[in-house]
Amino acid sequence: MTAAGYRRVNAPGHAIADSSGKSYAHRVALYDAIGPGPHTCHWCKWPGLEWGLPRKDPNCLIVDHLNGVGDDNRPENLVAAHDWCNNNRYVIERRHIPWSTWKDIAPTERKALYNPGTKRDTRYAEELSQQSPQPMVEPPPPLAEKPELLPIRKGFVRWEALLG
Ligand SMILES: [Zn+2]
Repeated sequence: MTAAGYRRVNAPGHAIADSSGKSYAHRVALYDAIGPGPHTCHWCKWPGLEWGLPRKDPNCLIVDHLNGVGDDNRPENLVAAHDWCNNNRYVIERRHIPWSTWKDIAPTERKALYNPGTKRDTRYAEELSQQSPQPMVEPPPPLAEKPELLPIRKGFVRWEALLG
């Protein structure tokens, strides 16, 4: 979800309000729940996330919505995350790559998993998922021998009979 979809609120005097006294509703809600920090990333478990860093700083605290619904700002739906973790979360979850993959890789040194230009996962993401245990896929249930035919109404014939 882009920042454009997020709701801005008046929060004059709030620790994370900008010079016009505004902030984003989800940022105010999480700040009020967890305080000034620094905080640990919910996903990769690296510490050092800080409110108020520039967005492009790898340690800027991003507020991630657990259920992916950008205006669901209940505190239990909000977690602190790196921009990298927030952006790559869906590739990681879809490919069942364990988050522990990044336990020894600093947020500044993580390679991209998704290429927005081609709208495809990167080769690196493919390699990581090949190394990751994938969940068992349940085989589909066997097909019924023959579907039950409904009793035919008096005066009608089955269409199959018309085919000869
Ligand atoms: Zn992280």
